[in-house]
Amino acid sequence: MKARRGGKRVDMPRYLRLRADTLMGMFRHLPAPARAQALTALARATAEAGGDSARRYAAAGAKDAVALLAKIEKTAAELGWGEWTFGNGSASRLALEVRDSPFAAGYGAADTEVCAPIAGMLQAVAGLVLGAPCEAREIACRARGARRCRFEAILRKQP
Ligand SMILES: [Zn+2]
Repeated sequence: MKARRGGKRVDMPRYLRLRADTLMGMFRHLPAPARAQALTALARATAEAGGDSARRYAAAGAKDAVALLAKIEKTAAELGWGEWTFGNGSASRLALEVRDSPFAAGYGAADTEVCAPIAGMLQAVAGLVLGAPCEAREIACRARGARRCRFEAILRKQP
């Protein structure tokens, strides 16, 4: 799909609607090693595509970190990705809490964190906000019995 921005026609990403339990059922049906690999791959793909979206939001007016994080929280809710609340960050860390993650709900009870797309998106957003590549991970997941899913992104260690 094309949209006009600044007098130029640009490609807009396509979204598809898929039941959360259909998507997450795929992971449930995989054997554990393949499931872990697939969740990691989904996080990475989301970081790539999500980074593109976040740069789009920044270019469309969400200029500073506060505005960008507010835009991400709003968009996540609109997309059905749960109720996002970014925590107070620091120069090297960004925290995120998510209520009612559709990924946890779609998966059901799990023995591992399952909200890989949210971790991927946080990784992309943190990279923009903190100004350098980040690593993000989920540190508590509703699928594992936590009340809310919690995530953190920290600056990637330089080699
Ligand atoms: Zn989760």
